[in-house]
Amino acid sequence: MTELVQHWIDGARTSGVSARRSDIFQPATGEVARQVVLADQSDVDAAVASAVKASQDWAEGSLSSRVRVLFKFRELVDAHRDELAALITAEHGKVLSDAAGEVQRGLEVVEFACGIPQLLKGEHSEQVSRGIDAYSIRQPLGVVAGITPFNFPVMVPMWMFPIAIACGNTFVLKPSDRDPSASLRLAELFSEAGLPPGVLNVLQGDAAAVNALLAHPDVAGASFVGSTPIAKHVYATGTAAGKRVQALGGAKNHMVVLPDADIAGAADAAVSAGYGSAGERCMAISVVVAVGDSADELVEAIAERTRALKTGPGTDPASQMGPVVTGAARDRIVSYVDAGVEAGARLVVDGRGFAPQDHEEGFWVGPTLFDGVTPEMSIYTDEIFGPVLAVVRADSFEAALELVNANPYGNGTAIFTADGLAAREFQRRVTVGMVGINVPIPVPMAYYSFGGWKDSLFGDTHVHGAEGVHFYTRGKAVTARWPRQAHGVDLGFPTHG
Ligand code: NAD
Repeated sequence: MTELVQHWIDGARTSGVSARRSDIFQPATGEVARQVVLADQSDVDAAVASAVKASQDWAEGSLSSRVRVLFKFRELVDAHRDELAALITAEHGKVLSDAAGEVQRGLEVVEFACGIPQLLKGEHSEQVSRGIDAYSIRQPLGVVAGITPFNFPVMVPMWMFPIAIACGNTFVLKPSDRDPSASLRLAELFSEAGLPPGVLNVLQGDAAAVNALLAHPDVAGASFVGSTPIAKHVYATGTAAGKRVQALGGAKNHMVVLPDADIAGAADAAVSAGYGSAGERCMAISVVVAVGDSADELVEAIAERTRALKTGPGTDPASQMGPVVTGAARDRIVSYVDAGVEAGARLVVDGRGFAPQDHEEGFWVGPTLFDGVTPEMSIYTDEIFGPVLAVVRADSFEAALELVNANPYGNGTAIFTADGLAAREFQRRVTVGMVGINVPIPVPMAYYSFGGWKDSLFGDTHVHGAEGVHFYTRGKAVTARWPRQAHGVDLGFPTHG
């Protein structure tokens, strides 16, 4: 019988009420490995009711008691790294070392959340007027929902729930239905660490579950990470229902290589950031902007490295790149490659039709490189989310910067150069949220905040770091007087006497 991935509601696994199911594939073999339950309205209601019930006690608990559970959770995730990485590789397809890396980056957010007593400290001003003090406090929102994409089944949920819960909220996580098992395991580990039932619920489902969460009157806020059209929808729907929403969307990340850059180093970086995780990263480099007369040398260096990559099952330690997530994703990526050829781009390395021996039924696309790409081609305009790297040539630094800034996405970008002044100019003028200088994937550490600009983020708060704490709390300003005697009636507007 096919294994069924369940919800985690009120501290226990449950299949819930809905009879809807979805297949989960093993991308390296193409087989259906498991099925996942898909919530309906009554399952959503059960998860939210559990979070509401747990909310008061959790928010009333001391900061130290919350932190003790977080520390224990940190230890348990650390002890189960390999198991979590194996779950990711089985359902997502990425190579095990990459999966272990995402567990590590998620763990760093838990470590950040362990400092919550320091992070939640308010401000205090004594004697703002005679005998009057003013201070600020931050309080949890209540029940918060998290909706996450398939490409980081551990890290992206962990951008959200450790901080939300540390702040005193309870949480309903709706992971991707393509690789939902890791979220369930995280909830079990958190429970083992002492988290009370209902503080973290995992609700398996698809669009129906998301829309029911966004309409639910007991959900106060939602964090979303996924593609731009859905991010827009979630932001518009959630805010129209009066909720606080941060919705991170898709990307088209450009790496600008100036002629003075170390070309071998830039080629290494472009290949690592373009094809790591088969390009299924929101911070993947999908466009290389080759500036000036070193472009030929750069393209040749990238091509040489691309041809040498080893693509195979994520469980094989020799594989550098795994399959893509589903057959539908493979077909979509291949259709973009076809369109690129049709539009006249030069296909330098063709990954179509590739399959490793004994895994012919898996969801494979080999690393693919285009040169001579122009901004109106669909391989440039659209987020392909696969192992396809497009080289666009630009005459000058200004032309390259203009190209990056004209793009509707603004998640990440990088510049490779030996010129500090050019790098500084780029950093100041580029309209992108995360910038790398000789660093191809500039993902901020847990104690900074992650987020893009333009069509890569709807809302104004980035995730984790200080902005994460801000998002999951509401500010309150208190003005307090403890008078010895009555002051008498005064209808004037209060000023500082
Ligand atoms: P997706 O938008 O298809 O799905 C994301 C979540 O939304 C899932 O939980 C899914 O079940 C739900 N969903 C899907 N369709 C919906 C609908 N019509 N209504 C309501 N909810 C719906 O994204 P994906 O394919 O899982 O993930 C890849 C995308 O995520 C890429 O675009 C990538 O760039 C983006 N991403 C962005 C970031 C970031 O930080 N900006 C990080 C990771 C991934």
